[in-house]
This record gives sequence, structure tokens and C-alpha cells, in this order.
Amino acid sequence: MKTNLLDFSLPQLLDHFAAQGEKPFRAKQVMRWVHQMGEADFDAMTDLAKSLREKLNANAEVKVPALITGQASDDGTRKWLLDVGTGNGVETVFIPEDDRGTLCVSSQVGCALDCTFCSTARQGFNRNLSTAEIIGQLWWANKSMGVTPKNERVISNVVMMGMGEPLANYDNVVNAMSIMLDDHAYGLSRRRVTLSTSGLVPALDRLREDCPVALAVSLHAPNDTLRDELVPINQKYPLRTLLAACERYLEKAPRDFVTFEYVMLDGVNDRPHHAQELIALVRDLPCKFNLIPFNPFPNSGYARSSNNSIRAFREILQAAGFVVTVRKTRGDDIDAACGQLAGKVQDKTRRTIQWQDRPTTDA
Ligand code: SAH
Repeated sequence: MKTNLLDFSLPQLLDHFAAQGEKPFRAKQVMRWVHQMGEADFDAMTDLAKSLREKLNANAEVKVPALITGQASDDGTRKWLLDVGTGNGVETVFIPEDDRGTLCVSSQVGCALDCTFCSTARQGFNRNLSTAEIIGQLWWANKSMGVTPKNERVISNVVMMGMGEPLANYDNVVNAMSIMLDDHAYGLSRRRVTLSTSGLVPALDRLREDCPVALAVSLHAPNDTLRDELVPINQKYPLRTLLAACERYLEKAPRDFVTFEYVMLDGVNDRPHHAQELIALVRDLPCKFNLIPFNPFPNSGYARSSNNSIRAFREILQAAGFVVTVRKTRGDDIDAACGQLAGKVQDKTRRTIQWQDRPTTDA
């Protein structure tokens, strides 16, 4: 079987080349061809020695996941569904903004955490994505989006906020992020790569040492009783433990705050008393809030908070001195909004069936 070079970070490619008697600068050249030029054909890598090209053709490949569909939303959001084999597909979303272009990258086929308000969770879980399948999403998007008229890359930021829990696929996610940060590949600064987690505390502590990028945490509730229900991993790593890990993370983080994501669910977690409780909870931690209006999906059992409730919630947090943004709902005409990425998941947990058996709470 051929080795997929897309699986290698630069240190790994250096080792791989050294084992074959190839010089370090050759590995760097190949890294730049693959990731900066989006080249998958060794014969087109014209400044490599012919003998090296022959060797690579015989033993290696640059294998990116095949594109199943690409969709564009009226607001400029784009979504790609990529084939990761055996009937599975993962989704990647590009979100253009005035001052940046953000790519939302998936880390797993489905998700094993059972957050009650997330449609990816409802799909069940199949497997972790490989490094090549994670970085392949950026490779594809970069190739299709290209550069701006000023010759800057259209994709300036990456958020690990697509399908899956990134910290549950630790090694491959960290490897892929190290390629995102590498100057011989995408050269993104740590501030421009954000990992979002529902709160796997031991892995968060490892990330602080291995690859401290910007951190977003899916908080969604101001107390353990409610969070146990909405984000069940809270039963294992409750709020006090999670917040302590966030504090430790900040010692190494590229930004001096944590972003707390908070989905706005009508009547569930969006009342003024929830906001007050939240303020008391995070008072001692440097943080910002990103309120995410709930994005509905069939039989979710939840409704989006009204604009008035969201405004009131935001004002309470702001009055206490917190910076609060409300996430714009982008690409909802192509189901590309947060929590709507479903991809194509051959569920190994049989969760889909469990859910079909449950009585729906929808009206
Ligand atoms: N598993 C990681 C990465 C997912 S990021 C995490 O939990 O952080 C996607 C963000 O969208 C998370 O904050 C997630 O909780 C939120 N989300 C999930 N479903 C949603 C929905 N239906 N509407 C709005 N936000 C949702």
C-alpha cells in the first residue's frame, strides 16, 4: 500500500524522508507543493529530482477525500461533503466575513457525545477521521477558494467546530492542527486556529502542552443539573473541574480569554436567572461569550429563543462587564449552521435507531 503523505506533519515527513536517505529540504519542498500549491501529482513538482519523483510515484500518494457535493448559500457560505469511504461523508463549511474567511472543519464521522440539541449527535458515531481526512478538508477548501486580489489566502482562520468532538480524536486532530500552523504548509498563527470542545478535561490538559491554540468551550448551561442533561459528558467532568482546566489552559493559550459557547434554547437555558447564575459561575475566569441561537432540526424537541430573550440575556452579561457576541446564523438555507452538520454517517452506535424508538417531544 502507498503511504499517504497527507497524513504527515513536517517532523513526520522529515523522518520518513530521512529513512529513505532523502535530505530535509526535500521534505520541506514536498510539504509546500502539497499544502501551499495544492498539488497532488508528483510529476508536477518540477523542482524535485527526477529520481525522487519516481520514488514517490512508486511508494507514496497524496490522497484527499473525494468531493461528493459542494453547495453555496445566498450569504456566501459554502459547504462541501467529502467522501471518507464505506458510505460515510463529512461536512466542511466556509464562512466569509468582512475581515476574514473561516473554515469550519470536522474531526469525526458523527459524534459519540450525546448533546441533546445537536443534530450530529443524533446521527450516531462511526469513527475518527485520519490526519489526512482532517487536513484534506482545508486542502480542498483552500484549493477551491484560492487567494484574494491582494494575494492573501481566502481562508484565514480555522475552527474545529464541525462534526465530532475534536478532543476525542486527539492524536489526529493535534497532528492536523500542527500542519495548519506549519510555515511550510498553511502557516496559520495559533490565534487563528480555534478548537471547540464540550469539555474533555484530561485531553484539554494535554492540548495545553502539545498544541495550545485558541480555545472555545461549549458551556450551554450555568449549573451542573442542567448541563448534565444538555451536555452529558458533564456527568464525568462537571463544571468546577472544567473551569479549573480552562484556567490552567489560559497559562499557555495564544489568547488571554476562553470563549464560552452558549446555545440559546427557548425556555430551557435562556431566562434572566440563568444569565445571573452564569455570571456568578465564571466571575473569576477571563472569558467571552458567544451566544448561538439554536438551529432547529426535525424532532429536536427544542425551539430557538426569541430575539427578545437573546437580547435580554446578552444585556445582563454585558452589564456585568462581559464581552458578548451573538453568532450570526449563516448558511441555514443549505443546512450549514452550527449543529446542523449531519454528513452521511453509518452509525455504529445504533443511536439513530434508539432515537426513532423514543417518543418525540415536538408539538
Ligand atoms: N464537539 C465540539 C465541537 C462542535 S462545535 C463541541 O462540543 O464544542 C459546534 C458548536 O455548535 C458547539 O458549541 C455545539 O454545542 C453547538 N451546537 C450544536 N448543535 C447546535 C444547534 N442545533 N444549534 C446551535 N448550536 C449548536
